[in-house]
Amino acid sequence: MLLVGCPVSWEAWKVSIEYGRLYIVATPIGNLGDMTPRAVEVLKTVDRIAAEDTRHSGGLLKHFAITTPMFALHEHNERQRCGVLIDMLLGGESVALISDAGTPLISDPGYHLVREAHRQGISVVPVAGVSALITALSASGLATDRFCFEGFLPAKSAARRARLELLGDESRTITFYESPHRILDSLADMVAVLGAERPAVVARELTKRFETIKHATLGELLAWAEADSDQQRGEFVVAIEGAIKKESQGLDDEVLRIAQLLRDELPLKQAAALAAKISGEKKNAIYQHLLQAERDG
Ligand code: SAM
Repeated sequence: MLLVGCPVSWEAWKVSIEYGRLYIVATPIGNLGDMTPRAVEVLKTVDRIAAEDTRHSGGLLKHFAITTPMFALHEHNERQRCGVLIDMLLGGESVALISDAGTPLISDPGYHLVREAHRQGISVVPVAGVSALITALSASGLATDRFCFEGFLPAKSAARRARLELLGDESRTITFYESPHRILDSLADMVAVLGAERPAVVARELTKRFETIKHATLGELLAWAEADSDQQRGEFVVAIEGAIKKESQGLDDEVLRIAQLLRDELPLKQAAALAAKISGEKKNAIYQHLLQAERDG
């Protein structure tokens, strides 16, 4: 396997330069101003662009005067058409993969192609850009030091609730993608499983005209979206605050006081580690307590 940026043998390097490169190119999630100059340059210069929906991406390419031929690669034909693209790459052609919006492979096709490219010793080059997930998190006001991404929840309520049950004790910020026709049902199931009081954020239509970032409890978010049909339109990221770790309960008041004094002077991790050394309590329990205290303001 050849990984870009890793030291490679001359033989592997020689092979990789004889092959074409596979570029994974992020495109905007709404605002065309988020297209990077490097993305435009790569898309103009590669031999072929593999696109999820060639008609949809046609508009983007036209806007940036990109005339490179396209090749359809979507979730239904990816396994089968991947071989054709790999042959092109092995034959020395360069290929750029794009999706309808954002970063390919993030809830979008491309996994099989990228995996096979690595297997074949083809260089895979990411051309970084926007993703709805990171865009939402960056403006969410929720903790971003640790988070998990759950993609789309199942379409049926029973399966959705079952998935949410598994996330009940998750202490990291939990993120989801959601579609307009399921946002209300999903929020209702989140309330039912995780509780109406859990803080969360609905990030809708990011980077677009009707961009909305609403921070409230899950119960309030459900009521707000139910009351205004405009808030049920468009594309959504839902981010939910992680569960409070029970471990942090039961800590002695004096330990908490010392931890807070240290936190006033030190970074969180260091303060927790030092308080743990002084008190003999578990570092993670103190860390969780300090983290929660900061979230609560
Ligand atoms: N690959 C994309 C990315 O990097 O964000 C995601 C593709 S996934 C098929 C599409 C989902 O991403 C939408 O249903 C929505 O949940 C989320 N999404 C995409 N654009 C968005 C936007 N402008 N605002 C909020 N969510 C968005």
